Amino acid sequence: MESSNHPTEARHCQDCGNQLRGRSDQRFCNDTCRNHFNRKKRQEIAERIPVSAKEILRIIKNNYRILSVMSPNPEYEIIVDLHELQSKGVNFKFFTSITYKDGESWYCIFDIGWRAVDEQVLITTFPDQAKVEDHYPKFS
Ligand SMILES: [Zn+2]
Repeated sequence: MESSNHPTEARHCQDCGNQLRGRSDQRFCNDTCRNHFNRKKRQEIAERIPVSAKEILRIIKNNYRILSVMSPNPEYEIIVDLHELQSKGVNFKFFTSITYKDGESWYCIFDIGWRAVDEQVLITTFPDQAKVEDHYPKFS
């Protein structure tokens, strides 16, 4: 239901649609309508999260578990065969962030980053990628 603050137009409750006669900024008949509307809105948002979200989170955790076993420190990179990682169950479609180092994009799962070169995968760690206070990737 559209709401309007135009004085000559009838205003209606955003929940039940009944005409409103109170203040010009009134959006609901009462707290019952307001609460019902807000509950419905929260429910709609919850239903929009795809059913596959849980499975994707499981894949990301699994990727992390496998890569963290060979996780080096930020000082150097290790090289692992792409097919070896895939056979261990790494799904490279899913990661948590992207960062850049030496002009290259690195796909990160929390603090572990990887990038593919032909059939090889370079792996290193980026501790900053697991910190939530950094909002923008560094482009160099
Ligand atoms: Zn109402």
